[in-house]
Amino acid sequence: MSQTAASPFPGLAELEDAEAFRRRHIGPDAHEQAHMLRVLGQRDLDSLMRSVIPESIRRDAPMQLPAAVGEQQALRELRDVARENRVLRSFIGQGYANAHMPGVIRRNVLENPAWYTAYTPYQPEISQGRLEALLNFQTMVADLTGLDVANASMLDEATAAAEAVTLARRVSDHASNSVFVADDVLPQTLEVLRTRAEPIGLQLQVGPAAQAGQGEHFAVLLQYPGVDGGVHDLRELIGGLRARGTLVIVAADILALTLLAPPGELGADIAVGNTQRFGLPLGCGGPHAAYLAVRDALKRQLPGRLVGASVDAQGNSGLRLALQTREQHIRREKATSNICTAQVLPAVLAAMYAVYHGPEGLLRIAQRVHAYTALLADGLLAQGWELRHASYFDTLTVLTGTHTEAVHAASVAAGINLRRAGEDRVGIALDETVEREDLLALLGVFAAVRGAAAPRPGLFEAAAAGIEPRWPRSLARRGAYLTHPVFHAHRSETEMLRYLRQLADKDIALDRAMIPLGSCTMKLNATSEMEPIGWPEFAAVHPFAPAEQRRGYQRLAEELQAWLAQATGYDAVSLQPNAGSQGEYAGLLAIRAWHHSRGDAARDVCLIPSSAHGTNPASAHMVGMRVVVVACDSQGSVDLDDLRGKAREHAARLAACMITYPSTHGVFEPRVREICDIVHEHGGQVYVDGANMNAMVGLVSPPEFGADVSHLNLHKTFCIPHGGGGPGVGPVAVREHLRPFLPGHVAAGEGAGAVGAVSAAPLGNASVLPIAWMYMRMMGAQGLREASAVAILGANYLARRLAPHYPVLYSGQGGFVAHECIIDLRALKDSCGITNEDVAKRLMDYGFHAPTMSFPVPGTLMIEPTESESLAELDRFVGALVAIRAEIARVERGEWPRQDNPLKAAPITAAVALADSWEHAYTREQAAFPVPELRRHKYWVPVGRVDNVWGDRNLQCACLPVAEPAAQQPEAQAA
Ligand SMILES: *Cc1c(COP(=O)(O)O)cnc(C)c1O
Repeated sequence: MSQTAASPFPGLAELEDAEAFRRRHIGPDAHEQAHMLRVLGQRDLDSLMRSVIPESIRRDAPMQLPAAVGEQQALRELRDVARENRVLRSFIGQGYANAHMPGVIRRNVLENPAWYTAYTPYQPEISQGRLEALLNFQTMVADLTGLDVANASMLDEATAAAEAVTLARRVSDHASNSVFVADDVLPQTLEVLRTRAEPIGLQLQVGPAAQAGQGEHFAVLLQYPGVDGGVHDLRELIGGLRARGTLVIVAADILALTLLAPPGELGADIAVGNTQRFGLPLGCGGPHAAYLAVRDALKRQLPGRLVGASVDAQGNSGLRLALQTREQHIRREKATSNICTAQVLPAVLAAMYAVYHGPEGLLRIAQRVHAYTALLADGLLAQGWELRHASYFDTLTVLTGTHTEAVHAASVAAGINLRRAGEDRVGIALDETVEREDLLALLGVFAAVRGAAAPRPGLFEAAAAGIEPRWPRSLARRGAYLTHPVFHAHRSETEMLRYLRQLADKDIALDRAMIPLGSCTMKLNATSEMEPIGWPEFAAVHPFAPAEQRRGYQRLAEELQAWLAQATGYDAVSLQPNAGSQGEYAGLLAIRAWHHSRGDAARDVCLIPSSAHGTNPASAHMVGMRVVVVACDSQGSVDLDDLRGKAREHAARLAACMITYPSTHGVFEPRVREICDIVHEHGGQVYVDGANMNAMVGLVSPPEFGADVSHLNLHKTFCIPHGGGGPGVGPVAVREHLRPFLPGHVAAGEGAGAVGAVSAAPLGNASVLPIAWMYMRMMGAQGLREASAVAILGANYLARRLAPHYPVLYSGQGGFVAHECIIDLRALKDSCGITNEDVAKRLMDYGFHAPTMSFPVPGTLMIEPTESESLAELDRFVGALVAIRAEIARVERGEWPRQDNPLKAAPITAAVALADSWEHAYTREQAAFPVPELRRHKYWVPVGRVDNVWGDRNLQCACLPVAEPAAQQPEAQAA
């Protein structure tokens, strides 16, 4: 019988409510949306979309995605996917080790939105917690490598090595363009180096480390210990190389450095490596924080982020990102690298592992690993096996000869993965998770193959009184490291817990307030999306485990690729790039390789509009393209005449044009088809920067309007949290003709493909992919489309509400913006000396993170609310900006002096507001509680405005000595 009219119950589908998650993800509910639409004079979301998006580019084909399911159902389905992975005990090594993340760090950092939902610390005053954590990371790496300065993380060890090589090329005046790479570097490092070297004309010569001194090379890359475990004293070799003007890069195992003489002491100029084994799960290859450390003379060449100390307006010390890491937008193609999003959260986790264990704890972990390795070696020798090296730290290479396959078969049967080190050898790498039973199991595998006696539990007695280290005495590490009190003061769990809480409390993340950063898409990172990344079926998989053990990851990747292809309209997607910048790089490589495949090798010009994000020209430079800048018109759109002229002028050499859509100015340019046509007519390919995809999913499809390739930022549009500046995932999506030119991966058994690998691991930051999978699974096509529409609704609502108070700089058809809007503050500087920076800092006193400052237009703020912010939060934000405008008006009217007002004083610390003396034209109350709501809920900045210029002149990038007196007065306070 069908439903009776009288039933008090809604229909079953409504009760089952498969779309429930959508209402959790999208902030404004139906009533709120209706209100916002009324403000905009629109009937419904569809009519708003028709008003905002030019008809010529509206998407035709709906997305073919599985229908949305609820959180529990999605988790169940993903659990099934995860179970297709087979988790064996991994002793593969090759740059990835099992590790224990201390529970206090897992729960209070990795699982704490105060850490994982924060943005990159561009606004230092609301980022002191994570800046301190990153400074700890830098200190840890500098100490352990024995070098002077380390940056705040690299994307992975392989790309860190590539960045080290290009750094060396920049500073070296050596005539040779050749790099010598020792043949015992990690194979994935060599793969990425090959990819990165070719387009910029660098030659790689690979051979035994001992031969590094033969031939002319501007740089040499050595691995320490080598991938096969060998530990050698490199001093003499390095000394000889440096005497000949060759720069020496040493890729070093961070744990081994607690025991072995560090690269700096061996004479290296640069050290690179990975900090994964400081507590992070294997995660099928990422995310992990790699590191790069240099001698002092090279510090201004460091790629990536560098945290340094400076002083605030009161002369107290305050941390901030140092100059070169903020200059990408200024230096463009001359930037030190294209790295933007890095690996902040993994770096924080690794640094906290060192804070928690301290030098003694790390040493004990390393000593135990080595003691077990020595026992294993002795046991294998006793069984009659031969080892490749007598000197090792945690990795043995067993010369298994004709037994090799039998050893692998027996180990897998015993639930153990060993490294396929070659046809006649097997690698075994131990780590901090190894227990006595593991050693017995390993020895049992080898004994069975050889028909030797099973190992006796009594073998551990041999080490009862300690072992002799198995490396040359000359390599014993001397001198203290990690001497700073931060690595000593938090040894009890109570102290650690409070330290983490204290740092988190200093910062504004999404758990406090909206983060309206234009171009950054700070939307909800739902808990149910985050939960699966901790499942052992995802976390404990080695990236180079046999493919049949990684089926779950493969299915996860295939589904996500298919869904992302639907969401964008492209034909093929690679998930390997581990940040947007790396997706740009991979996309441009694909374009380059396609031209080459057609015999069009001369095409090397890349047109880029002046408004482009700084990573665009930096990436083009890295694939050997010449950047030609295209002008923008007064509306912020690409100047079509200039584009046509430049395309014609460079027609014979045109490789690509990189545009952003909707434009970096937050507008749907109606003539984007024409842009694409012009580029195609002149033989170029169109790269659309997909960072703004949050305005397009389900509404506009870039390939439909003419794009050939895009990268996506899963950490923007698809809900992977920013982590305070990483991890990210930057898939590259292409049309069919570019499919053959997506990245490959030999180390993972996939074949190099036409362009090789761009990341150390085949799926890049694989273990955060479940986040994006969950998001898409729970939203479905309708939910994703609604998310885009509400993001656009929110931006237009803000623009409309703010317009009476601040000029909104650009708009498209009908006066509408896309998913973000720019407010123009330049006139205020003339009228009363107030700058966009003053407004950004004052917003902190109101409890908000500032919008994007001075990108893409200097002197402006770019606001992106995303679909996740409720009407109440949007209104609170408008309220703050309106109140700030009233404050500015008082300065304009002369009621408050130009130099003495809450905007110039902002952000205002509690110490300043409560100081005994108060000699300002405004009251303490006006300073601290400008709107009543702040009395109930107030965020206090831990430092006053931080002086960037002073810090850059006095570069100080390691933990400050504790007794440091308040720094001297800054030389120049005003820029
Ligand atoms: C964020 C962003 C990028 C860079 O992406 P990362 O993931 O930070 O490397 C590139 N272009 C635009 C427009 C962006 O907003």
